[in-house]
Amino acid sequence: MEASLSHGSREMGHMKDFLLKGVALSEDESLLVETVRDLCRNEIAPRAAEVDREEKFPWDNIAKINEMGLNGLFIPEKYGGNPISKNAWFMILKEISKACPSTGIIFATTSHGCHPIVQFGTPEQKKRFLPPILKGALAAISITESDAGSDAKAMRAQAIKKSDGYVLNGTKSFVTTGDVADILTVFVKVKEENEIVGLTPFILTKDMAGLRAGKIEKKMGLRGSSTSEVILEDCYVPADHLLGAPGGGFKILLSSLNSSRPNIA
Ligand SMILES: Cc1cc2nc3c(=O)[nH]c(=O)nc-3n(C[C@H](O)[C@H](O)[C@H](O)COP(=O)(O)OP(=O)(O)OC[C@H]3O[C@@H](n4cnc5c(N)ncnc54)[C@H](O)[C@@H]3O)c2cc1C
Repeated sequence: MEASLSHGSREMGHMKDFLLKGVALSEDESLLVETVRDLCRNEIAPRAAEVDREEKFPWDNIAKINEMGLNGLFIPEKYGGNPISKNAWFMILKEISKACPSTGIIFATTSHGCHPIVQFGTPEQKKRFLPPILKGALAAISITESDAGSDAKAMRAQAIKKSDGYVLNGTKSFVTTGDVADILTVFVKVKEENEIVGLTPFILTKDMAGLRAGKIEKKMGLRGSSTSEVILEDCYVPADHLLGAPGGGFKILLSSLNSSRPNIA
């Protein structure tokens, strides 16, 4: 827990430096930010009002982001990505969000959905789930439930241990991109031999039987970004989709929240 909290204050420290001291970027990073700024000015901003008015998921913007390979910015080099400094990352996210807030949150959410895999996944999980993201797949992260918001530990969705995997049941709420994401990191409580062993994230893919989107929220802002329920109905998930150790998900949850907070801000 201490490690996660200090990681969190480091993340917020980056944000504070970014806001108060301005940013020092390498030449390559400055060029990248400039290229993203042009893309935002010429392609993303002109569509923003329509995206918001029509509650239209901005697929064209996501395609442009993928043409530039921007998902690689939060994927380690070892898995084909090209990570950049925190300052450059915030600059890029700021440019996209300034041009179209819905596109900004969708792009940031893919990084949030990947974070637990990058930080806590096995080499096999990274090799399997990060390359599709690099090619432009969308990721989501699902923690919240109707009675478990700030108090995430109150979540009720469960994974029951079977011989070679887990069966997941429950309803998650307010999942950004929950209806369209290709890969979802979903937190539930694992139950083994009738005992709850604790919070545990699983990597789900949208083709899994028993996984579907429920109600899509009507929002007052970020209307091009979908926010949906994710419904798990006897959703069978093989054991090698479990992230970390069964019941060891609270530190992954804290790390995920800590790394996403500055992006949301
Ligand atoms: C647009 C949008 C996108 C979202 N995307 C995602 C997503 O992708 N994945 C996901 O898992 N969740 C997502 N969420 C959910 C979000 O993380 C929750 O809204 C958040 O955790 C707060 O939960 P809640 O809404 O139930 O509010 P509550 O927890 O009910 O809190 C309501 C208010 O009470 C305050 N409060 C709560 N507890 C205390 C306390 N002990 N002491 C004092 N004050 C307290 C809170 O600060 C808040 O102001 C999204 C929400 C929105 C609006």
